[in-house]
Amino acid sequence: SVIADRLSTFLGTGIYRFEGSNTVFIDPVRVLNRSYTRFRVSPSAYYSRFFQSKGPTGDSRVPNNSRKRKRKDKKTHALNLREQAADERHQKVKPLLLEAHGSFLGARDLLAVMETLSGGNEFSGKEWLQNVEQSFVELGSVWQAPLYEITLNYNQDDKPTHDGGSSCVNYGEQRVLPVFNNLVVNEAGSDVEAELLNNKYIIPKESGFFMSDLRQIHNLIPGSSLFDLLQNELQYIFILPAAVSDCGFNLIVIDPPWENSSAYQKMKYPTLPNRYLLSLPLKQFVHAKGALVALWVTNREKLRVFVEKELFPAWGVKYEATLYWLKVKADGSLISELDLFHHRPYECLLLGYCDGDIAYSKCLSRLRPVLHDQVFISVPGDYSRKPPVGELLWEYVPGPKPPRCLELFAREMIAGWTSWGNEPLHFQDSRYFLRG
Ligand code: SAM
Repeated sequence: SVIADRLSTFLGTGIYRFEGSNTVFIDPVRVLNRSYTRFRVSPSAYYSRFFQSKGPTGDSRVPNNSRKRKRKDKKTHALNLREQAADERHQKVKPLLLEAHGSFLGARDLLAVMETLSGGNEFSGKEWLQNVEQSFVELGSVWQAPLYEITLNYNQDDKPTHDGGSSCVNYGEQRVLPVFNNLVVNEAGSDVEAELLNNKYIIPKESGFFMSDLRQIHNLIPGSSLFDLLQNELQYIFILPAAVSDCGFNLIVIDPPWENSSAYQKMKYPTLPNRYLLSLPLKQFVHAKGALVALWVTNREKLRVFVEKELFPAWGVKYEATLYWLKVKADGSLISELDLFHHRPYECLLLGYCDGDIAYSKCLSRLRPVLHDQVFISVPGDYSRKPPVGELLWEYVPGPKPPRCLELFAREMIAGWTSWGNEPLHFQDSRYFLRG
């Protein structure tokens, strides 16, 4: 019955922990659904890439190209120094990944429900065709951008989560707010339907977004109203203020649009040169008691070296550990061969601590040491969409709990998080949701 318990926990939370191992299986749809009250994430839309669904975003690139890639990868050219270093890293982590995959394949209860993850075929191709997907990146870069407004339609039955304060809404109210360069927050305890240019978006409970070009972040001058808003006001919205000085974020997840990625990726979103990342004033958003910073990286050796030698030091982040996201298909097999040089079936999440005020920095050393070599397994969603792993990191976060969470370069929203990027509403489009 321990096994039955584990499965029922998974069905309720979307998280399956393997006994005696550092491995966790995640169903992002179930995890995300905990942010919603009246809507739910459409499993067939989420999983259109690796389940045999007829979704128009169904991406058959991986299987189609694999033969060609294999041939290319087998080409026996001598590895240059950087490739050797990358290969060394890979060889080191390989046993860990094989063991994690082995635990996963051994969990028969879990494998038995794998095929059900993508739901029935509630996928409405018609709705997808009718809705034209909004390009927020384009919309936000035209001169009219400041004029675009989003309408939040609060539900009659919504109950406020916190009383008092200026952030209280009258339920059943409609709110019209600038959508770009503005902090838009749903502080209610239930999700809200929003409208923007004839498209509908679902905003999770207790969440906010800031849609802007992060290259403009330096225009947020400390002391300016926008900066204050981001640093101070968020706490009134999500957590009752403990102390006035108690502001900033203590869990920060960053998935940058790294340059030098494939042409296919460039079609999907703009990339950002490293110098912009180096000048990101991360420290200004860190809580007084410090923050756990989680950074997604690709497997390119040059990038790993850049992060370890330049980016983390520039941000004042001390490297702690690497976690691995292992990608599987619906049948449980890896999405590509483990040894394919340029198409590894895993990605890395680098963790580090950023100190807050000096006075608190001792707290960090007393913090439970971050577990190295954790592996989380999931079936990937849309191209370069990461699984929501934030809550798996909670126990390593310094400062207040539940943590104040910030995601940079976000394309989706989660309850309790502020999503900042040039398209944080991307996956909030109502086409990714089902009612009830
Ligand atoms: N973690 C996301 C997910 O799971 O869906 C994927 C993030 S993707 C790697 C990078 C994002 O950064 C894209 O949405 C891209 O449009 C955005 N981006 C690119 N340049 C940006 C900029 N200058 N300011 C803000 N966002 C930017």
